Amino acid sequence: MSDERLCIMCQKPMDRISGIYCKECLKIHNDETRELKRKYREQGLCPNCGKKPMSGHVRCKRCQEVLDRAVRIYQNGFDPIELELDLKKLKKALENENKKC
Ligand SMILES: [Zn+2]
Ligand SMILES: [Zn+2]
Repeated sequence: MSDERLCIMCQKPMDRISGIYCKECLKIHNDETRELKRKYREQGLCPNCGKKPMSGHVRCKRCQEVLDRAVRIYQNGFDPIELELDLKKLKKALENENKKC
């Protein structure tokens, strides 16, 4: 329909030329929340947003969907630079989750 790209995080139209996150979400994604995410993880909450995870999952439903989408985008060869860092982690997490099932 349209080639307008949406931020995979918030689904708003992208305000950046490349990447998968809008400026706002990229910021959220970066250093300042790294520490917070670590805390969430320690408390058994979704490491992305701090909500209650789906049962049997590390992440909440929404973040799991975002992750699935990110992996799909990555597999389609989209923007490996920005995804590289994260996806190694994400893929590993996915593998762990799959093992649990
Ligand atoms: Zn966004
Ligand atoms: Zn979440």
